[in-house]
Amino acid sequence: MTQTILSTRDLSVSYGRAEALHRVSIDLARGSIVTVIGANGAGKSTLLNAIMGLLQSSGDIHFDGADIGELSVEQRVAAGITLVPERRELFTTLSVDDNLRLGAFWTRRDELSARLDTVYANFPRLKERWRQHAGTLSGGERQMLAMGRALMASPTLLMLDEPSLGLAPRIVSETFQIISNLGATGVSILLIEQNARAALDLASYGYVMELGRVPISGPAQVLARDERVVESFLGMAMRSDDDIGNR
Ligand code: ATP
Repeated sequence: MTQTILSTRDLSVSYGRAEALHRVSIDLARGSIVTVIGANGAGKSTLLNAIMGLLQSSGDIHFDGADIGELSVEQRVAAGITLVPERRELFTTLSVDDNLRLGAFWTRRDELSARLDTVYANFPRLKERWRQHAGTLSGGERQMLAMGRALMASPTLLMLDEPSLGLAPRIVSETFQIISNLGATGVSILLIEQNARAALDLASYGYVMELGRVPISGPAQVLARDERVVESFLGMAMRSDDDIGNR
């Protein structure tokens, strides 16, 4: 039987009087890749930030069999959840190596060095640039560093907020390949994307978010053929090259 690693029930978030998330219920099977797709402002980042504990929310969040709704962000990280935020939030004046170490600063030294070895094995380009300041990396390398830093926490659940944002199409493919490889190692992945086609190709299950609600969900292959999804998202061209940059 498939085990659920993460579930939200009736999760709601408001910014002042504006409700950004309305009674959202999602499930993620252990070891699977699940995607939430949707247009700008649909509430995707709000969902991830609420699961991470960065935002006040109402409703239930269960992770790995426990109710985590009252836990702090640090406790949720310790429980095995990490988030790669949309803006990556790297320490630009620190080296690649220091950024990675900060992803696991509370870890014992021998364990930390084992995790560094694993991350460098997954991201050889980061190893080549280990002494370089994060601020001087390309957009794709920054995304790799943000993912590498999250992996330093050895998460059970990795949440990725728009990893393709601002990347050239070639780098987008590379990034999705990396996510696929990570999924194959057994880590559960919740992937938020506007690039619906790539996300549905990668994920086993998907949710479509609109105005803070999830009106459509299903196996990714079914969603990819759903008329409403095709019309709203899959006709859309991939993010254009003019958005390439170092966000
Ligand atoms: P995007 O892809 O543009 O990041 P999204 O689907 O991730 O979109 P959210 O960023 O979660 O959407 O935003 C959902 C809604 O909440 C939007 O209407 C947004 O304007 C609003 N919102 C987000 N953050 C705040 C905030 N800090 N204060 C007030 N409103 C906010």
